[in-house]
Amino acid sequence: MTDDAALRTEVRDWLAANWSPEVDRETFAAAVFEAGWTAPSWEPSCYGRGLTDRQSRLVAAEFAAAGAPGAGHDRADLFACTVHDCGSEEQKRRLLPPALRGESKWCLLYSEPGAGSDLAGLRTRAERDGHDWIVNGQKVWTSFATTADYGMLVARTDPDVPKHNGITFFMLPMRQPGVEIRPIHQITGESEFNEVFLTDARVPDANRIGEPGAGWSVLQVALGYERRLMGDIARTTRSRREKSSDLVELARDAGCLGDSHIRQQIARAHALAGVNRWNTQRAKTSPDRAEAATLLALGKIAMSRILHETARVATEIVGAEAMLSGPENPVGDAVTFRALNAYFTSIGGGTDQIQRNIIGERVLGLPKEPDPYRDAPFRDLPH
Ligand SMILES: Cc1cc2nc3c(=O)[nH]c(=O)nc-3n(C[C@H](O)[C@H](O)[C@H](O)COP(=O)(O)OP(=O)(O)OC[C@H]3O[C@@H](n4cnc5c(N)ncnc54)[C@H](O)[C@@H]3O)c2cc1C
Repeated sequence: MTDDAALRTEVRDWLAANWSPEVDRETFAAAVFEAGWTAPSWEPSCYGRGLTDRQSRLVAAEFAAAGAPGAGHDRADLFACTVHDCGSEEQKRRLLPPALRGESKWCLLYSEPGAGSDLAGLRTRAERDGHDWIVNGQKVWTSFATTADYGMLVARTDPDVPKHNGITFFMLPMRQPGVEIRPIHQITGESEFNEVFLTDARVPDANRIGEPGAGWSVLQVALGYERRLMGDIARTTRSRREKSSDLVELARDAGCLGDSHIRQQIARAHALAGVNRWNTQRAKTSPDRAEAATLLALGKIAMSRILHETARVATEIVGAEAMLSGPENPVGDAVTFRALNAYFTSIGGGTDQIQRNIIGERVLGLPKEPDPYRDAPFRDLPH
């Protein structure tokens, strides 16, 4: 029996003994954590099993097949991944167990009204006050802020040094009087993202990840995980549990599966998705880290193109019905949602244009975009 086969059997046996849809979720989450299945690719001292990335995906696939929650934190939990890679031993011991048991939720306090693509221009300040830091400023487009326990915060702690050097990374407790959250109404009808106003909000120094002023490099780690995740999976339906209808199914229902033009378009969308899947798989199994990073850098932008292309073909298939939305028009509503939500991946986590810049600079080795203010103290930058 190969290692993979043995692992598969072990996970299946474990799930058979511990999981059923009726089981108490908290008890189950604790058991998954104890067994090391929440983040199996991490070392045992970090609650994992020291498996490879590919084996960790295999574990997650077995959990998904059984409909069991709790696996995949080593890939999808940006909070836990950042603490794992950049946190101190004390932070790992304190912050990882509740995160891996799904008890602490997080959001990303990065973008500001005047700092999105040029995130290093952020103006939210954090000032040291004894064992705490006091935070003032505004964040925007913060997904899931209303349910988060922690905000992964980048704030300016030193305005006297160049903009990239004066930023510090914190895990800010969200449930406190200094944090005011105002939902933003989105074009999809949802309000997943929010404005977050920080007024004398407090974060303990113990929740600072990395050294003061070294937040930019911690952020690069967190963004790397986010890009990788967004290149891998994307939401295509209004309800997260629902499976999006396949283009072939959609065309069959609309009576145009025999149309050669539609067939060509469906084939192209499938080919794009297939190539991205293979590239991502290749990246994850490649022992060459440089090759893996290159492939993963392409994943997010490829996913963005796939989502827009699929939405365009779906719109063409259903025709005028795509202009109708709401529960009384389920087909049109699903297609409209797909088209509008495709922007999530092409803007969130860094726009397509910024992904192209990253590929140009970090993968192809092209010269960096000129920035006359790169080395000037932040305080002297024009606003
Ligand atoms: C669905 C969704 C969820 C989000 N969730 C979060 C979240 O949870 N937390 C968070 O902090 N942020 C979040 N964001 C914000 C997102 O990260 C920013 O919107 C994004 O980084 C772009 O910043 P901006 O909106 O300020 O646009 P700008 O930076 O003002 O960009 C405007 C346009 O100019 C282009 N542009 C800018 N600079 C360059 C350049 N150097 N080269 C070429 N083109 C350039 C951009 O590509 C874009 O088309 C989310 C956004 C969306 C859409």
